[in-house]
Amino acid sequence: MNSRYPIDTALTTQYLQQMVQINSVNPGLAASGVGEGAIAEWLYQTCLALGLEVQFQETAPNRPNVIARWVGSGGGKSLLLTGHTDVVSVENMQSDPFDGRIENGRLYGRGSYDMKGGLASILGAVAALKAANFQPAGDIWLGFVTDEEYLSLGTDALVTAIQPDAAILTEPTDVQICVAHKGFAWLTLTTYGKATHGSRYTEGVDAITHMQYLLKMISTLEQKVFVDDLHPLLGRNSVHASLISGGLGLSTYPDQCRLQIEHRYLPDLGADEIIRLWQDEIDDLTKTIPDFKASVKLDFERPGYEIERDAPIVQTMHQAFREIMQTEPPYMGMYAWLDSAIMGRAGIPTVILGPGGAGMHAAVEYVHIHDVVACAAIIAQATADWVS
Ligand SMILES: [Zn+2]
Repeated sequence: MNSRYPIDTALTTQYLQQMVQINSVNPGLAASGVGEGAIAEWLYQTCLALGLEVQFQETAPNRPNVIARWVGSGGGKSLLLTGHTDVVSVENMQSDPFDGRIENGRLYGRGSYDMKGGLASILGAVAALKAANFQPAGDIWLGFVTDEEYLSLGTDALVTAIQPDAAILTEPTDVQICVAHKGFAWLTLTTYGKATHGSRYTEGVDAITHMQYLLKMISTLEQKVFVDDLHPLLGRNSVHASLISGGLGLSTYPDQCRLQIEHRYLPDLGADEIIRLWQDEIDDLTKTIPDFKASVKLDFERPGYEIERDAPIVQTMHQAFREIMQTEPPYMGMYAWLDSAIMGRAGIPTVILGPGGAGMHAAVEYVHIHDVVACAAIIAQATADWVS
């Protein structure tokens, strides 16, 4: 690597290992989750030791964001380096999820890949800039946020506290520049029948059987409607059934059937259009199927995100990548949802870059230490170029 701000590999690895060794399982996902309090305390102290101004921002009881600021001398653009501190549940992991052991250049443990590797890249980058006596003109913000794996309380709060000119999010991208990700929506579809004794076919209306028409609509969307609209980085829109329930007893016509579904969609689509799609279908079915009655309800949604390749922060990242890696950067889109959508909606242009590894949300998780250091070098370079 060819860096003006050489990364201290030992220090960066130590940051990574110490963070992986701190349990920060999201309590929204697992009843036994301890939350982000302990890792927030560690980050607070580490940022203080780096000479930054630091504050907590409470997002839920004992679940603070950590917001650090390297105050610029004035006149430059500000930048936010950000990532989430929570990890998913450790059930079914094959060995101690928090040992942080190192083998063959990989560091193992829950959250190593998603995304304490990315947090270590941020800290390694700032440590390198400090060691090189770099003097920013614009402010450098560090935002370590809670709850990305559940409701994103952390980033929702962060964007109310600061308004940087751009952001780098260090979710794992296998050292590629990520410029787009999908949005999603959770919906409940309910069909309504008429509960009567099972012998009274002249009166009963079977809500479960009526759900077939909405299930068929899922197949139609998957096989006909969504197939042609292909995004170069994100594939297509998709929908699937998640949970179904209904019925009162063996000898009773079911009065209701509830189907919960999930849509994953491209950045140009929104939850309003998804709702309209279902409402139109329900209206048609109500006209054509005797006694058909149904409703659609939106339970939760997050928009997709996309940033232009010629956006200044993407260009800055592109140049830094070329300079450090001595090759053209690969670009990618993320099928999964990321906090960048919240920042984008808040008017903060965001680009995503993080290390490679494997086992996100799986039984064995690791991150490549070499990638963590490479990302740190790229981020240090991009940060210096942006805030100068
Ligand atoms: Zn993540």
